[in-house]
Amino acid sequence: MTTIVYLNGVFLPQEEAQISVMDRGFLFGDGVYEVIPVYDQQPFRLHEHLARLQSSLDGIRLVNPHRVDEWENLIAQVIARTAWKDQGVYLQVTRGTGPRDHAFPAQVKPTVFILPMALTPPSAEAVEKGVNAITATDTRWSRCDLKVTSLLPNVMLRQLSVDADCAETLLLRDGELIEGSVSSVFIVVAGVLRAVPKSNLMLPGITYDVVLELARAAAIEHEIRPVSETELRHADEIWITSSTKEVLAVTRLDGNDVGSGRPGPLFRRMHALYQTYKHSVMRRKAEA
Ligand code: PMP
Repeated sequence: MTTIVYLNGVFLPQEEAQISVMDRGFLFGDGVYEVIPVYDQQPFRLHEHLARLQSSLDGIRLVNPHRVDEWENLIAQVIARTAWKDQGVYLQVTRGTGPRDHAFPAQVKPTVFILPMALTPPSAEAVEKGVNAITATDTRWSRCDLKVTSLLPNVMLRQLSVDADCAETLLLRDGELIEGSVSSVFIVVAGVLRAVPKSNLMLPGITYDVVLELARAAAIEHEIRPVSETELRHADEIWITSSTKEVLAVTRLDGNDVGSGRPGPLFRRMHALYQTYKHSVMRRKAEA
């Protein structure tokens, strides 16, 4: 079935969607993006994703081309035009076209693109057995809090784990854990959940927030403070989280077992809490 995308005011088949070679997204990676999970045709945490989009746009000094209600409407229309019940809606805003000059063009007409993508939830095996990860030095810039389309360092870092047949690359900077190349990272030490504090060096993950909210609601002991490389390597549990992966346990890091080498008890609890929460939100939305 043809995928219908949205590009600058028009819904059209993906194969027919074209942008100018002078688009600054193409020339400079001068743009921002979001990926919003959709379950049973309902966007999950949409307002949080749109708020992060606004922060990313503010961070690159690009005026948001749409109000929140307009985004909601466009996303709803993209969802209505796809057969998938579950999907990831990718949206991207670039600084539009202009002469190839690093400086912003005098007149900016942003390019807005929305693409529905298949959403493959983690396999039962990945949830049951956990996944393998490697570590690498974080080579990215110092505004990793912005979700920008210039993703070459993330691409290179993620490929390292693909080459090593692993699910993710955990990034270390100056002896501290930052996040994954495409996910947030939590550890568990002696039954206490630990999250790295948000900073300019990591993306403020929507799932990171959900996990901490669930931990608070379930009175799971947790703390938000930096994680050293040594603490990471000796953690009882390591989790990676993202909108598409939800919560997964890392059970081998750089070839060594994490804890028992099986997903730990707190992971199992959080995974169950996450699923229950997700389904309750979706049910409430469907009934509304
Ligand atoms: N960090 C990075 C670098 C990411 O690419 C992602 C995935 N978007 C995340 C963290 C997790 O963010 P979220 O939970 O909002 O998907």
